[in-house]
Amino acid sequence: MTRTVYVNGEYLPETEAKVSIFDRAFLMADGVYEVTSVLDGKLIDFDGHRARLERSLNELDIPKPPEFDDLLDIHRNLVAENGVEEGMVYLQVTRGAPGDRDFVFPSKETRPTVVLFTQNKPGLADNPQAKVGIKVISIEDIRWGRRDIKTVQLLYPSMGKMMAKKAGCDDAWLVEDGFVTEGTSNNTYIVKDGKIITRNLSNDILHGITRAAVLKFAREAQMEVVERPFTIAEAKEADEAFFTSASAFVMPVIEIDGAAVGGGKVGKVATRLREIYLDESRKAGI
Ligand code: PLP
Repeated sequence: MTRTVYVNGEYLPETEAKVSIFDRAFLMADGVYEVTSVLDGKLIDFDGHRARLERSLNELDIPKPPEFDDLLDIHRNLVAENGVEEGMVYLQVTRGAPGDRDFVFPSKETRPTVVLFTQNKPGLADNPQAKVGIKVISIEDIRWGRRDIKTVQLLYPSMGKMMAKKAGCDDAWLVEDGFVTEGTSNNTYIVKDGKIITRNLSNDILHGITRAAVLKFAREAQMEVVERPFTIAEAKEADEAFFTSASAFVMPVIEIDGAAVGGGKVGKVATRLREIYLDESRKAGI
């Protein structure tokens, strides 16, 4: 099926959508993005994603695109047009295409490029992996120092996923100065003696929208949350491990660098948090 996508004010068949070869994201990874999941044809955590997009644009001094205030409508139009019941909407905003290559930022009059498309993923919420858990390896975190900004510089996370695949695993946890920062495309957690431990927010990690929601639900359910860095050694000794992201929700981790976590079984806390997150998000979907 040919999808309808959105580019700079126009809804087009995906085969007709074009972006300039001078686009700053193409030449310099000068762009930011968001992924919003769709359940029951509704957007999950949309306000959080829009707020983070605004923050990413501000931090990089990329002008707000003219359609910024219409983003909810554009998301909804694409979901409806493409008949997405479960899946996601990808949104990218770049510093635009000034018509030549230059390290200096183009003038503020250059239109930021805005691209949105949908990905249909039937069965997203019922992902069988969530019942058996996934395996991760640990690798060094050699990304830049502003991981709180959701840029399209995704080469190293992509290489990390490939390293994990090569090792027969599903994902990689990134380690800096002996402590886990986050996963290649997710925030990471361990559970020990009933406490949920996850790295505190800083420029070292992306401020996950799913992380914020899951921690809120955990606290509301009287679970204890501790925001601090943890090591791989600590994670291996934990009762449970899991990660969160907009597309995976809450995903249990049962093995780290070949060592079983929690006896290699999916834990109760991760299972409960996944249930709560999916229930509450479906109710609040827009
Ligand atoms: N950390 C990184 C590096 C990510 O790329 C992502 C999502 O893509 C996350 C964390 C999770 O963020 P969110 O829950 O907003 O999807």
